[in-house]
Amino acid sequence: MKPLNQLIRPNILNLEPYTCARNEYTGEARAWLDANENSRIDGFNRYPDPLQIEVKKKLGAMRGVAVDRIFLGVGSDECIDIIYRVFCRPGVDNVVAIEPTYGMYSVCAAINDVEYRRVKLHDDFSLDAEALFNAVDENTKVMWICSPNNPTGNSFPLDELKNIASRFDGILAVDEAYVDFSDAGSMVDALDDYPNLIVMQTFSKAWASAALRLGIAFASAEIISVFNNVKYPYNINILTQRQALKVLDEAPMIKSVVKELIASRDNLADRLLGLDCVKKVHPSDANFLLVEVGDASAMYEFLKEHGVIVRNRSKVTLCGNCLRITVGTEEENDLLIEKMVEYGK
Ligand SMILES: *Cc1c(COP(=O)(O)O)cnc(C)c1O
Repeated sequence: MKPLNQLIRPNILNLEPYTCARNEYTGEARAWLDANENSRIDGFNRYPDPLQIEVKKKLGAMRGVAVDRIFLGVGSDECIDIIYRVFCRPGVDNVVAIEPTYGMYSVCAAINDVEYRRVKLHDDFSLDAEALFNAVDENTKVMWICSPNNPTGNSFPLDELKNIASRFDGILAVDEAYVDFSDAGSMVDALDDYPNLIVMQTFSKAWASAALRLGIAFASAEIISVFNNVKYPYNINILTQRQALKVLDEAPMIKSVVKELIASRDNLADRLLGLDCVKKVHPSDANFLLVEVGDASAMYEFLKEHGVIVRNRSKVTLCGNCLRITVGTEEENDLLIEKMVEYGK
């Protein structure tokens, strides 16, 4: 890995960060007269904790990560964007990513005027590490690997990810949005060994809190402290912070629902495989299935007309005639199967 001060954009490295009132003084006080809030009406009058320490303590205890190695963003979206803004010089630097994968990495690259280099997975959706490194040059700052990957559903072996982390000079960003549905394990436990590793997770999938907009980045304390200097000072509002604490307290319930979802996914895969119209159900480590049919666009339209909305991925690399189908409630899954039977071949 290159030294961090060669990876971070010079303007970010030299940034004199904004210090907000709630950063400058923390602790107990008899009178809060530092932030120009309305002291006369209680409820939402006070600014929230800019570093969300209580949420990070609880989350960190659960994932085995220190508070100063956790960043919270407005969804993974903010985590993705901040990686570009911290590391990638617009118009100069580039990133390398597997293809197909989650669409936000390329959209954020375009917004930040950063070249986005797509490297195709093998036909069986496995990693092509040689091709990834062939796409790297001296201005490649970030490599994006989503595992379990969206939309293919497979995860990549931790050994392969660790190999890439140790070979790569830049930042390896591993998106683990679906990690709770997989037995493959998490790269979070490898953070100590790879200072260039950023692992992203989210409250939007297994934690059933997409509406909260809360994404997580785990990394070295050095990287996290730069993220904290770059983010909007009060990016995570108080309602989200309070609700996140409640959700984290529900961990045992969430775990058991995730278990149910995994069993339901495997059952749904079997039922889909039994249908005449289904050619292939790709193995999934996530809460969705990538399903190949004869004519994905026709099937998509038919299902839509009957009120069943799936994702048509047939235009995506390596996903010809594939639909991405989220595991729903048992009733939703039954309706899906019923309509697919009705569709016929
Ligand atoms: C759904 C998803 C996310 C979650 O994004 P949020 O902004 O946290 O809701 C992140 N990464 C991938 C690959 C996803 O599929």
